[in-house]
Amino acid sequence: MPGREAPKSNDAPDRFRELKKEIVVMRKQGEPPVKDPHTFAQYMCDLCSTPHPVSELRQCVLCGRWACEACWKDEYYTCKSCAGLIKIHSMKGRE
Ligand SMILES: [Zn+2]
Ligand SMILES: [Zn+2]
Repeated sequence: MPGREAPKSNDAPDRFRELKKEIVVMRKQGEPPVKDPHTFAQYMCDLCSTPHPVSELRQCVLCGRWACEACWKDEYYTCKSCAGLIKIHSMKGRE
């Protein structure tokens, strides 16, 4: 095939690919969080729907949702929702 060459990474485990299929991407990476319609100075956490200053929100690299401190899982560096899926996958990935 001429032209396009997809960068190959052999170290991405199959498990991770399976996981990605299960995760529903809510936002594109880099898409800003939703502004709180009441305060305008704050942004909504996509998981618990409470307003926070933008500095307290982090975007999940898997689903793209913006998560506040309470909805963030440092252990996986994703939101809690994705962290739950990762946990399930790492448990059944023993074959
Ligand atoms: Zn939250
Ligand atoms: Zn997520």
